[in-house]
Amino acid sequence: MSRPKKKKSEQTDTGKTVRIACRYRAYPTDLQIHRMGNWLTSLCHLSNTAVAERKEAYRTTGKGLTYTAQQNALPAKRKQDPALRMVHSQVCQDSLQRVDKAYQKFFDDLKKKKAGQKVTVGYPRFKRFDKYKSFTFPQVWMNVTDKKTEITRQREIVKFSPLKPTKPNVRIKFAYITVPGIGALKIRLHRDIDWGSAKTVTVKRSASGDWYVSVSVEIPLKPSLSDNGKQTGVDVGLKKHAATSDGSYRGHPKFFRQSEAKLKKQQRSLAKKEKGSGNYKKQKAVLAKTHEHIANQREDFLHKLSLWLVVTYAYIAFEKLNISGMVQNPHLAKAILDAGWGTLIRFVTYKSVMLRGNSTVTVNPAYTTQDCSRCGYRVPKTLAERVHTCPRCGLTLCRDTNAARNIEHLAFGKSSNSEENMSYTVGTVYPDLVSVTPERKPVETGASAAPALAVSPVVEARKPRLKSHLSRG
Ligand SMILES: [Zn+2]
Repeated sequence: MSRPKKKKSEQTDTGKTVRIACRYRAYPTDLQIHRMGNWLTSLCHLSNTAVAERKEAYRTTGKGLTYTAQQNALPAKRKQDPALRMVHSQVCQDSLQRVDKAYQKFFDDLKKKKAGQKVTVGYPRFKRFDKYKSFTFPQVWMNVTDKKTEITRQREIVKFSPLKPTKPNVRIKFAYITVPGIGALKIRLHRDIDWGSAKTVTVKRSASGDWYVSVSVEIPLKPSLSDNGKQTGVDVGLKKHAATSDGSYRGHPKFFRQSEAKLKKQQRSLAKKEKGSGNYKKQKAVLAKTHEHIANQREDFLHKLSLWLVVTYAYIAFEKLNISGMVQNPHLAKAILDAGWGTLIRFVTYKSVMLRGNSTVTVNPAYTTQDCSRCGYRVPKTLAERVHTCPRCGLTLCRDTNAARNIEHLAFGKSSNSEENMSYTVGTVYPDLVSVTPERKPVETGASAAPALAVSPVVEARKPRLKSHLSRG
């Protein structure tokens, strides 16, 4: 793989667009909550019926149903079901689209499996009512043509009206998003939005009962960061969340473990309550809130880390992760899910596309931890060995940095003097990022003509709570 080349003219305006989603906290009234709850119940029923119909059609005729067939049957269904009739027709169609997508994925996975790829194939399932959490308006703007004048104009399906702050110097802004059939939903406008480019609107209920409105907007792609020529591999692990080629790294925050005691207590309290009782439901919401809090903390951390990576490096490479495979190790599963590497790669990729105009590269992870990043000699390591010491060229390096360099070389090729150019810049915004200046020590081994440079193993930022044998190799 070669490093992606970029023309200078592309750095400012690419003429391309990107889709991003902005999520806003909504504050619905009791009546709106009641209506939205009814919508979700009806849509869940509709989607389960759609799955059942497809199953039945396949059983009797040997052929599945298409989305078009199901969409055509929708008006008749809405006539029969008064609850479904309350739901906006496009929202119903979107629910059927979701079923169709699940089937497409199922058939794609089946094909991949037949071709010999390692994939888990899951047949689309029936959803439980409390697991059906969101509904989507697939269109915000609709073209309407007047039959007499034949003039086409755009009509809003979902409307947006920002509210002026009640007092001067008040930064908190609110807005109303008027959803047909539900009413004007009040949202906290923590970030401005260009409503003219809004594409879809999704209303979502969280497990703890909070409501959110997600608006996807299409914005022009205008990378704002200039090419600093810096490239890096990123090694993700349990000891260090992310280590880069130049020795910088970010320790693992382990939010989940910090909140684990709290979770356990809340879980025990839930177990003591009678299932289905009012107190049970209350406690369940408390528990869901804690889970959401942890998820928010994790997301916040990953956003900051990914931004730091994209601002610091113009070209970033990761290893291709097989998270579902890794989670099968029961000792590591919790820590791996807690780490959220997949999310990190996703965040870095979209931020890199938006701010730099280029994507990230993923490489084959085979032997990235074992091979020497300077001479390529394979040095087998146990999971507990934190330092890479090469018997052939004498390179001594933190194992994660060594892996990060291997990833960089696989993605972008080996640059001639990468070790001399090592810059140990640390993001000032994120004080937890700790790196250590390399000490230049004379190396006794005369076997190699390579420049004698030994880097002292990087000192751990924080004592890891996990035992060393739990770290990923
Ligand atoms: Zn070596």
